[in-house]
Amino acid sequence: MAVISILGGGESGVGAALLAKSKGFAVFLSDAGILKENYQQTLRENEIEFETGGHNVERILGSTEIIISPGIPEKTDIVKAIKAKGISLVSEIEFAARYTKAKIVAITGSNGKTTTTLLTYHFLKSAGLKVGLAGNIGQSFAKQVMEDQHDIYVLEISSFQLDRCFQFKPDVAVLLNITPDHLDRYEYKFENYIASKFRIFQNADASTSCVFWADDEVLKANLTKIAASAQLKTVSFNTKADAHITADSIQFDGAILALADAPLKGPHNAINMAVAMLAAHEAGVSFEQMLKSLPFFENAPHRLEPCGVWNGVEFINDSKATNVDAVYYALNSYKQPLILILGGVDKGNEYEVLDPLVKGKVKGLICLGTDNSKLEQHFGTIVPQLFATDSLENAVKKGMEWAASGDVILLSPACASFDLFKNYEDRGDQFKNTVKRLIHG
Ligand code: ADP
Repeated sequence: MAVISILGGGESGVGAALLAKSKGFAVFLSDAGILKENYQQTLRENEIEFETGGHNVERILGSTEIIISPGIPEKTDIVKAIKAKGISLVSEIEFAARYTKAKIVAITGSNGKTTTTLLTYHFLKSAGLKVGLAGNIGQSFAKQVMEDQHDIYVLEISSFQLDRCFQFKPDVAVLLNITPDHLDRYEYKFENYIASKFRIFQNADASTSCVFWADDEVLKANLTKIAASAQLKTVSFNTKADAHITADSIQFDGAILALADAPLKGPHNAINMAVAMLAAHEAGVSFEQMLKSLPFFENAPHRLEPCGVWNGVEFINDSKATNVDAVYYALNSYKQPLILILGGVDKGNEYEVLDPLVKGKVKGLICLGTDNSKLEQHFGTIVPQLFATDSLENAVKKGMEWAASGDVILLSPACASFDLFKNYEDRGDQFKNTVKRLIHG
């Protein structure tokens, strides 16, 4: 009997195990860490063998195929051993896609994936389609494929998942943008990361719609990587495109969205909305229908999320901004004077691109992290006032001390959160709670 081993027992790994079992494979799941109790229970109930706290290398190397979770780096010993033996090593997305005939809209990019995926899902669902939402969001794709209730899936796909996709061929493939991120997983070579992102288009042909933001410099320079036969659908600020973003609208073929009426603000969200509308249109929804459903869209938390007003000062939680590009767009989204809270675990950030915006808009900078030295050094001479702390409460208090009516206090950290918080959600939640507590005295 063909044996499938699964490395990593999170949402995607456990989902893949269930699907593989249901397809008649002998399944073994191995996780070097600890498995959540509910996942262990699911595996036991389904009689799927698993191990935790280490890998039984010999057993894993006896598999026909191995499914790897996106969190496991390619440079780990187990992955090296699998590659050396030449065993097929695939992502949950690659594996699960083999077992569904449903249409697939797959969305990747350095920033805006979640927002654009949720928007696209919203348009398809509002149009009455039987649509599944998966990938990096919610329930695993594999598990949903096993239940096979959907006509179409919208998948948020990371570069790590794409690295292990080979035959995966979405009907609508979306690439939002490419800016440096996760370079620690790509031998610190930007071109490796670019190649990874372009794998979203690797099997594109005449039946594939490729949707992308055409003003992105990296995309522009790499378009020859997409098959000439594929149907390109573009979003642009500058030129006539399938979606042309102007100062106050997005113009589609036969439809116009007034940005003033849109539920999401900022130029990056104009791109996200334009991309999502093109993607949903390619999946069969009319622009007219989308203009009706858009006002009812609610974004996920921690993305430029308004979270309080105090004496005319607005608080914004953008904890999900874990890289410099996201902060760039956050700063561009406000005309008001800003008090910016930055900091955390630096992923090799280069802050220069923020300098003009920070000079023009930021009246006070608060560095929130265990080591703020790089930020202090870089921004110390640029901003009128700077405060460094490792206490979220002191950060918010200082912001309130500096702020005047009409200002915005913006948490948009550019960094990972692991020095002071569990993850970006925890950082955002703590920020919102602290703001609430301090506002209400
Ligand atoms: P992802 O899933 O790719 O991390 P999110 O939608 O969760 O993307 O947004 C992450 C961060 O990036 C947020 O701070 C958000 O404001 C910012 N952002 C969203 N869309 C874009 C975009 N198109 N370009 C740049 N930054 C963006």
